[in-house]
Amino acid sequence: MRTEFSPAQLADPDTAESEKILRSCVHCGFCTATCPTYVLLGDELDSPRGRIYLIKNMLESGEAPTAETVKHIDRCLSCLACMTTCPSGVHYMHLVDHGRRWIEEHYRRPVGERALRRLLGLVLTRPPLFRLALRGAALLRPLTGCLPRRLRPLLALAPRRLPAASAADRPSVVPAEGARRMRVALLPGCAQRVLMPEINAATIRLLARHGCEIVIAKDSGCCGALAHHLGQEERALALARANIEAWERERLAGGLDAIVVNASGCGTTVKDWGFMLREDRAYAEKAARIAALARDVSEVIAAIGLVPAPNPGAGRRVAYHSACSLQHGQRLHSEPKALLAAAGFVPLDIAEGHLCCGSAGTYNLLQPELATALRDRKLGHIAKSGAELVAAGNVGCIAQLAAASPLPVVHTVELLDWATGGPPPRALAAAAERAAPG
Ligand code: SF4
Ligand code: SF4
Repeated sequence: MRTEFSPAQLADPDTAESEKILRSCVHCGFCTATCPTYVLLGDELDSPRGRIYLIKNMLESGEAPTAETVKHIDRCLSCLACMTTCPSGVHYMHLVDHGRRWIEEHYRRPVGERALRRLLGLVLTRPPLFRLALRGAALLRPLTGCLPRRLRPLLALAPRRLPAASAADRPSVVPAEGARRMRVALLPGCAQRVLMPEINAATIRLLARHGCEIVIAKDSGCCGALAHHLGQEERALALARANIEAWERERLAGGLDAIVVNASGCGTTVKDWGFMLREDRAYAEKAARIAALARDVSEVIAAIGLVPAPNPGAGRRVAYHSACSLQHGQRLHSEPKALLAAAGFVPLDIAEGHLCCGSAGTYNLLQPELATALRDRKLGHIAKSGAELVAAGNVGCIAQLAAASPLPVVHTVELLDWATGGPPPRALAAAAERAAPG
């Protein structure tokens, strides 16, 4: 694709990077077929190729984008299916990230939307505040109909009962069971530890059982991925730097073989920190080092090898939902399924497995109609798979699907933990309780 940036524009490292990406696109359109928004809406401007043109025009103009341009870029899920499909290796993720930052810096959104985006960036990345907000949401639920339309999806996704905070998320060092094979840091995260603290608890048990010493480093927490996807770069980078400092201290004190991430949306961002902080002289080197240590939990367990154990759930048919951030963002698709099979479960593929479930960070809160259409399409395919339960490696997908799924939806690590000696996943136990007579 031809570009017409001025030398002054290209002096900006972000624009220079985006220009390289734009020039690699040959506008063949292969990516359109696997883009969820194009599949739903059939509009070229809601396809990767259409958005690439919009971002090009927006950046070249050097001006504030039009509301129309913002609408189509906002509708992008950042699911990255287009990157998996593209034969020319176009790095759409870095391009759309730049586009979102540009919009955030140059476009004035309507006041309600601006407030909602600020609220999400503020609350979701701070677990105590998020917990408080969810408690408030539970109280407001009966008044849903009276609230502004934009706030209603927030209430719809808020859980009816909030689990207690887990002690497992406090700074600590959990020893390996038996001989120590690895020393790893676990990203404690933000929204996940409020909504589903059982995921970190299961991850810690699973890793310890597999010979890992696990560090929850003091001052590690939210990775900033949610803020990053909202285009709130300052906040995203501040959170990245705080984690990098925390893990560098641990690395220097006791060594670290890996940074384990069990929310694949976060993992994709942590693995990209080297790029995101490349222009920061104080952090570029540290960020690249930490990013190189980042692993999805399935990568770590696959590398160690699953310990054989009598699995109480052996033979259960599990629809494996391959989170976009795992399959497209990190190119990890077969590993979690192979682990489930090795544990004795029967993993089942879901039709249109490349399509997003509509969660996509804050997407289901900001674009509820499209997100719901994608969720219902996914649940329709799951229903046809013959599964008894659903597994995914990202809390956003789990919350999105569980909100309307008749089947329990759990994290892959909860199943692996159960299969190797841990308790049954909370959602599975709750479903069994509901089904019990009396
Ligand atoms: S498939 Fe790749 S090269 Fe072709 S239009 Fe899409 S992004 Fe451009
Ligand atoms: S990231 Fe997903 S939604 Fe966005 S353009 Fe690519 S395929 Fe479409």
